[in-house]
Amino acid sequence: MNTIAERYVKLVLALGQHDADYVDAFYGPAEWKTDAASRKQPLAEIGAATDRLIAEIPAHADGDELVALRRDYLKRQLEALRARVRMLEGAKLTFDEESQALYDAVAPTYPDSYFEGLLKEIDQALPGEGPVVDRYDAFRRKFIVPNDKLSGVFDRAIAECRTRSLPHVALPPAESFTVEYVKNKPWSGYNWYQGNYRSLIQVNTDLPVYIDRAIDLACHEGYPGHHVYNALLEKHLVRDRGWPEFQVYALFSPQSLIAEGTANYGIDVAFPGEQRVAFERDVLFPLAGLDPSQAAAYAKIRALVDRVSYAGNEAARKYLNGQATRTQSVDWLQRFAMMPAASAEQRTRFFDTYRSYVINYNFGKDLVKQYVESRAGAPPEKRWQEFVKLLASPRLPSALRAPGQPR
Ligand SMILES: [Zn+2]
Repeated sequence: MNTIAERYVKLVLALGQHDADYVDAFYGPAEWKTDAASRKQPLAEIGAATDRLIAEIPAHADGDELVALRRDYLKRQLEALRARVRMLEGAKLTFDEESQALYDAVAPTYPDSYFEGLLKEIDQALPGEGPVVDRYDAFRRKFIVPNDKLSGVFDRAIAECRTRSLPHVALPPAESFTVEYVKNKPWSGYNWYQGNYRSLIQVNTDLPVYIDRAIDLACHEGYPGHHVYNALLEKHLVRDRGWPEFQVYALFSPQSLIAEGTANYGIDVAFPGEQRVAFERDVLFPLAGLDPSQAAAYAKIRALVDRVSYAGNEAARKYLNGQATRTQSVDWLQRFAMMPAASAEQRTRFFDTYRSYVINYNFGKDLVKQYVESRAGAPPEKRWQEFVKLLASPRLPSALRAPGQPR
């Protein structure tokens, strides 16, 4: 399997020569990367080599549960790589076909009426008169973190997320990460894993940063999200087991659903129940110079707005299937996803680059949540155990679904 896995890594690096976003992280031998760059294998060759490699994977893997998971995972990662080659060769997939091929999952579809129902609830909860998106925007303005307070607020949030994670996750002693503030990106935050248990986390400050982004980003990009996920894979699978395939992270692959789903669900694991709003009110609001008496009201609105996140999937599905133009999508996102015009514009640029990747955040979170909670029940300690086990093992999105549960 290690030989097959090594060839997989080299194919990912070869495909990275055709697709600048494809290789999200690589910390294997540097000469593998320089070799891929100097050879610049044609797409057709990469495709054929992938087909051959898939055919060579043994039907069964002898060993413990992780060994069996590894085999299925490697096969599915290779199939996703094959699909990405086809896309770069010009194949046109529908949104759902693409997400199935790349992320091993198809997100549910909701009619406009579903979002209209949620918007009515938000409408009633927000003060003032006029279009609900404008009132939401006006309401939220009270929760913008001033620029000169950003790094102080983020540092405190990161420290808190780390403190909450440490008792439950055996982290390698050398782990650490750096935070940078950047502009002109299609995303709001990004974790670039460097290997050796280190991450570079970038925070995009193009748009106003609201106070809730502090915990979101600190957990999602840091603890117990992407940084912890990558460090645990490096520790348990690369170093302890010597499995080379985990030294590379192919962005457009099933691994991303697990990565984004765990990063988002990790927020709930680290801050169960009312603990998040309490920490924001008592610590982060004062640090940001915001009025703590407003923290609960803001959390309530935010929880309602979170529920319309699937509207982003619908917008992406219609836009990428050619059923809506960019302008129509921006309008639709403003109306149904509660996004101000600038965020809606930024979101359509995200669709251009990352396409059906959008489902990994919300549907990924829901899949991870039901997987962990169906096994752990309500006790926070049990949730941590199942969550950390999931982080440190190669499990496919389709294997998270409960038996008999529709896609
Ligand atoms: Zn992420």
